[in-house]
Amino acid sequence: MRILVVDDSRMARTVLCQQLEGFGHQATFAESGQMALTRCRDEPIDIALVDFRVGETEGVEVCWHLRAAQRERHLYLMLMIPGSITNQFFEVVENGADEFLRKPLDLTWLRARLLAASRVVDMQRQLERLATTDSLTGALNRGRFMARAADEVARAQRSGQPLSAIMLDIDHFKKVNDTYGHATGDEAIRSVVRVCRSLVRGADVLGRLGGEEFAILLPETPPQGAALLAERLRRALAETDVRIANGAGSVLTFTVSIGVSALRPAETSIAAVLARADEALYRAKNGGRNRVVCDAAS
Ligand code: GH3
Ligand code: MG
Ligand code: MG
Repeated sequence: MRILVVDDSRMARTVLCQQLEGFGHQATFAESGQMALTRCRDEPIDIALVDFRVGETEGVEVCWHLRAAQRERHLYLMLMIPGSITNQFFEVVENGADEFLRKPLDLTWLRARLLAASRVVDMQRQLERLATTDSLTGALNRGRFMARAADEVARAQRSGQPLSAIMLDIDHFKKVNDTYGHATGDEAIRSVVRVCRSLVRGADVLGRLGGEEFAILLPETPPQGAALLAERLRRALAETDVRIANGAGSVLTFTVSIGVSALRPAETSIAAVLARADEALYRAKNGGRNRVVCDAAS
């Protein structure tokens, strides 16, 4: 587990981090509530171990803030409380902590509670993955893609950087299913995601919006750049062999049509951007398929 120790005492956090590393965890620290918030925002922290007092701030308050700032990724919060305190357990959990540990820490107890916490975190991550990704391809599902899209639009507006979108649909896919069966169709869908992943950048957001329809968001990319990528994707996919299920090693190829659009300066939602990419995609289909069409105004 990636564990964040929130403690203003350098000595205490150094010792605790060493102990956690000794248990096989990755440990890092924050010396204030504010720093803890930043770290949890920027790093994939699984568990935060928060001291009862962190500088001027109560540990429960730090827990409350961490819980409030948490997004879809659950953070497991453990508050360390002095052994002398015996009557605030309910308040501690009510303010966001999942668990409390008595100080001075008993190391075997700590290790056992961390093991129990790891099980909860693992299950949480599994649920998060099931809720946000498509099980066939591992790409983001529609819901998660739209949530990420909203974040990217907000970010583009703050930074003034361009944001482009690509909509991609397999051509004559019904024929693939009808001719070679659903299993082969599924393999073609998986190969789209594989090829897209190999060509897009790490910051790009790939989602499976429907059956054989995909969208990619390209932060900090002007529409000309998006069009270049789209063309590269189109060509790479046309050259991709898909193994035919029970086909004794034979393969098929398929093509895709792609629409490209971009966020306009005053636009605050992704809906219109995707609608324009969809219109462009529609024109690509009508124009004969296996082609890229860009939204004229983008
Ligand atoms: P077009 O070139 O106009 O896009 O033609 P098309 O045949 O691809 O038309 P359309 O997009 O309407 O067809 C989508 C087909 O995709 C219909 C459905 O049977 C199939 N499909 C949807 N989801 C899946 C899936 O998960 N696996 C498989 N194998 N097929 C799917
Ligand atoms: Mg299609
Ligand atoms: Mg379709």
